[in-house]
Amino acid sequence: MDFFLYYMHMHEVYLDWAATAPPDTFALQVQEEAFREFYGNPSSHHSIGNKARELLEQARSLLARQLDCRNNELFFTSGATEANNMLVFSLLKRALTLKKDFSSYTIIISAIEHASLWEPVLTLKELGFKVKVIYPNSMGIIEADTLTQALDKQTIMVMVMLVNNETGAIQPIAELKERVMTYSKTNGRKIIFHCDIVQAVGKIPLSLRKLNIDSASLSAHKLGAAKGIGALFIKKQLEIDFFYRGGAQEMSKRPGTENAAGIYSFAKLVEIKQRSLQKNLDTAGGLMSFLMAEIKKSPHIVILPEKRADSETAHYSPYIIPVAFPPLAGEIVVRVLNEHSIFVSTGSACHSHKKERTRVLESMGVPASLAASAIRISTGPETTRSDLSSFLAAAKTKLFKLQQQTNRD
Ligand code: PLP
Repeated sequence: MDFFLYYMHMHEVYLDWAATAPPDTFALQVQEEAFREFYGNPSSHHSIGNKARELLEQARSLLARQLDCRNNELFFTSGATEANNMLVFSLLKRALTLKKDFSSYTIIISAIEHASLWEPVLTLKELGFKVKVIYPNSMGIIEADTLTQALDKQTIMVMVMLVNNETGAIQPIAELKERVMTYSKTNGRKIIFHCDIVQAVGKIPLSLRKLNIDSASLSAHKLGAAKGIGALFIKKQLEIDFFYRGGAQEMSKRPGTENAAGIYSFAKLVEIKQRSLQKNLDTAGGLMSFLMAEIKKSPHIVILPEKRADSETAHYSPYIIPVAFPPLAGEIVVRVLNEHSIFVSTGSACHSHKKERTRVLESMGVPASLAASAIRISTGPETTRSDLSSFLAAAKTKLFKLQQQTNRD
């Protein structure tokens, strides 16, 4: 392959789909038309409002069908961050309402959760809740035995995501939930199982009914719909009270005027993505194999975890892979690639401080120096082999030299 040729014909190469997807043309069009036609406030009691409400309910039922849950189990929010926060702080509401000592509740959270779940849980810990962190194995997977060992009689909530946003590792949620149910049955205490499904919706096969989880958070912009839209799924039987007050929207769980047009466009987009899910997965799988094969030929780039290339592809989303360019810092790699119009990130876009940046990779045993050197490559349905070749070409012509220089210094 003539890397130089690719490099000469360089265009913008977007490999940061896990941070946000470029706007989907279909979703944009649906949203614009719906916004013009259904501009009313869904809570207004006149025809214009009723029209918007009907659109909103149509979206709810469409999305519920795609996710395999009931309409009245979906509550629209401003995104997954809000959905995750709502859920976590509902525990504070419960403890205050029942006048329970905070330390009488144990929250179990995996070490690989997104900051939007991790940080609110840290806040509850500061307030006195007992928090147990469960760690993944070296492949980035939370094992069922690890969870079983952490469960105790005071456990109120378990949080493990479906697809990790930094490693792409797919967690065995149904198996983990099974362990929680078995434990719950013997101890007679209901344990809420929450799952962040942000990086899974419209990307890998997913059925909320089959996963049997109690709550889940999702986000629209990861698929190419508008930012500022998401949802919290809560199983019908579950009684959860939230802090929010101020309106009866979203069955009084999340007050505030809904963006009916944006939500409708999100639901329609999920429907489309579900239809092309397998085709997109196959394409992404082919691209990932190509990328990994090329990287394996290069001693300068390290795939994380290093054993991923030899493992079952079924354990990973083919849309996400972290790689490292030691000894360069991930930030430098991002900057150099950016100068050549190749856009990647150093893991999640939501890290609030440096230690947080390497939390996920370090939790699976990646040495701190290698984790600090990592970047995340994430693809989407529009990514091409030529995009990946441009990345490899830039790595070869720009980063390898820099790595050698840094090694010499
Ligand atoms: N959870 C995961 C796994 C994510 O990747 C993100 C996106 O950064 C979020 C939650 C937050 O989503 P939102 O941007 O909708 O708040």
